[in-house]
Amino acid sequence: MSVILDGKALSRKIREEIKKEVENFTSKGFRAPSLAVILVGEDPASKVYVNNKRKACEKVGIKSLFYHLSENTEEEKLLGLIYELNTNEEVDGILVQLPLPKHIDQTKVILSINPEKDVDGFHPENMGKLVGQIEDGFIPCTPLGIDILLKHYGIEVQGKDVVIVGAGFIVGRPLSLLMLWRNATVTVCHIYTKDLKKHTLQADILISATGVPYLIKEDMVKDGAVVVDVGISKVNGKIVGDVDFEKVKEKAYAITPVPGGVGPMTVTALLINTLKAYKRKFSHLSSTINP
Ligand code: NAD
Repeated sequence: MSVILDGKALSRKIREEIKKEVENFTSKGFRAPSLAVILVGEDPASKVYVNNKRKACEKVGIKSLFYHLSENTEEEKLLGLIYELNTNEEVDGILVQLPLPKHIDQTKVILSINPEKDVDGFHPENMGKLVGQIEDGFIPCTPLGIDILLKHYGIEVQGKDVVIVGAGFIVGRPLSLLMLWRNATVTVCHIYTKDLKKHTLQADILISATGVPYLIKEDMVKDGAVVVDVGISKVNGKIVGDVDFEKVKEKAYAITPVPGGVGPMTVTALLINTLKAYKRKFSHLSSTINP
C-alpha cells in the first residue's frame, strides 16, 4: 500500500496560509490582490475550471474579475481587453482559459499578456526564465503544483530518473524544464515514443500527462516508484486519470489520486503566482510564502 500524495489536503493548508497573508496586507490598508479571468465560449470543462479557480480566489481573499466573452468574439476584441487589463494598475494577474476557439490565434493572445501579469506562466518570457532558472518568472501552474507536492512529501528529485509521459505545452514541456532545474535526469515520452514501457520502467518518479485514461498499467511501473497522475478524463461519467490507480498503488511507493491530487495543486499554484504578482508591486511587504 502506497503513500497517497494528497493534493487536496496540502492545498487546504497552503490556501489557509495564503488567506492569512492576504489578510495581513489588507489589514494594513493595501488593496486585495486581483486576478482577471477571461473565458471565451461555452466549453463545459473550461467553465468548470474557471469556476473552481474563481471560487478558490474568493476563498483566500483574492478578488477575481470575470470576463465571459461569446464563442464568436473577434480576436481584436480579446486583444483589446487584454491590453486594458495589462495597463490596469488594480489587476495583478491575467488568465486566459485555454483552449480558445479555433478562429483566435492562441500564440498571439499569449504574447499579448504582460509577462509581469502572466500568472499561467505561458508567455515566452516566463518560459525563457524557466529555461534559464531565473527565479522571478512565473512557473506554469501544474508543474509548480507538482513540484510543491513532491517537496511537501519529502520526495527527493535531485539525481532521480524522472520520466514524463506527455510533452504538451501546458504540462509536459515546462515540467521537464522544472525537473531539470531540480537536477533530475529527465526523459520525456510522447505519442511517437517507440517503446513507452521501456522508458516508464526506468522511472524513479513517473509523471503522466496525456489525457489517455488508464494508459499507465502496473507492469509499466518500477517497484517503489513515485507516480504522479496529471491526466483528467471522463469515463462513464466518472473522472479518471492516466494511471490505473487501483493496481499501480500496490506497486508504487507513493501515488497521486485523481481527483484530489494534481488538480487542486494546480489551482493552489495559480493563487501562489497571483500573490507573487501582487507582492511585486508592494515589494517592501514581508512574505511568509516563498515557493
Ligand atoms: P496535450 O494534448 O497538450 O498533450 C498531450 C501529450 O500526451 C502529447 O505530448 C501527446 O504526444 C502525449 N500522448 C498522447 N497519447 C499518448 C500515448 N498513447 N502515449 C504516450 N504519449 C501520449 O495535453 P495537456 O494539455 O498537456 O494535458 C494532458 C492531460 O492533463 C489532459 O488530460 C488534461 O486534462 C490534463 N491536465 C490536468 C491538469 C490538472 O490540474 N490536473 C492541468 C492541465 C492538464
